Amino acid sequence: MTPKIRFTILFVSAIAVMAILTLADQSVFTLSSYAKAESAAAVLPKVTSPTPKPDPSASILVAEKKLTIPILMYHHIAVPAPDEQLKNNFVDPAVFEGQLKYLKAQGYETITLSEMNRAFLGAFALPQKPVILTFDDAYADFYANAYPLLKKYQAKANLSVITGMIGGDHLTWEQILEVSGKNVEIVSHTQNHLDLSSASAETVRSELSTSRDELIKQVGNVPRFLVYPSGKYSDDVIAVAKELGYLGALTTEWGKEISTRYYFEIPRVRVSRDSNIGSLLR
Ligand SMILES: [Zn+2]
Repeated sequence: MTPKIRFTILFVSAIAVMAILTLADQSVFTLSSYAKAESAAAVLPKVTSPTPKPDPSASILVAEKKLTIPILMYHHIAVPAPDEQLKNNFVDPAVFEGQLKYLKAQGYETITLSEMNRAFLGAFALPQKPVILTFDDAYADFYANAYPLLKKYQAKANLSVITGMIGGDHLTWEQILEVSGKNVEIVSHTQNHLDLSSASAETVRSELSTSRDELIKQVGNVPRFLVYPSGKYSDDVIAVAKELGYLGALTTEWGKEISTRYYFEIPRVRVSRDSNIGSLLR
């Protein structure tokens, strides 16, 4: 046998071994694919009728999705009285106007909570830099000071109404009805602004259902979101809120990441008297 022939035999043998190995590999792969396909077929029900439309409120709870949206939390838009105890809850109207200008200049676009919800469902195209403005407690100064500026800068907002505190320091139903609409979405801040985490089950249920029913009656829309009074809640409160048809709820915890998994513990960004909007959003 010449070296040339020996080399040819070796070479051909090597090719043959490689081919056998490849085939063996493929057959293993094919077998396991079949096994997978069979087990998948076993668990997937056969769809014969048209695919049922997913329940939007159900899908929001099932698959976790996350969006980064700063939800700014305001209370009063006014100059506090010298003897005011909670000065931090006040943002000067001139400062607030500066913040609206800043948002516009930086390319932020205001959206509502319901638009955020629709974005999660793929039914709303989010702007590049979304931001949500929320006003807790629906104070009278919202109508006097915040609302004219929101209109001037075409900004959208969410107003959380305590349905048992109407008039006086708070907005009247006429004012709430007037601002409610495309640019101001009304949400529930319960009936009496109690600490829900320590209230009885009966009280929690009545606080959430009475305020919902009252808003339906006075404003004509079902409030989709709930704002916990003073940010206090518990697992039991969440269960009742879900049962009563709220889609989600807002806390006072700090954060900008909104997750459908924690849709009843939505964080926000508190805007205080001396806050710098630029650093809050950074
Ligand atoms: Zn409040």
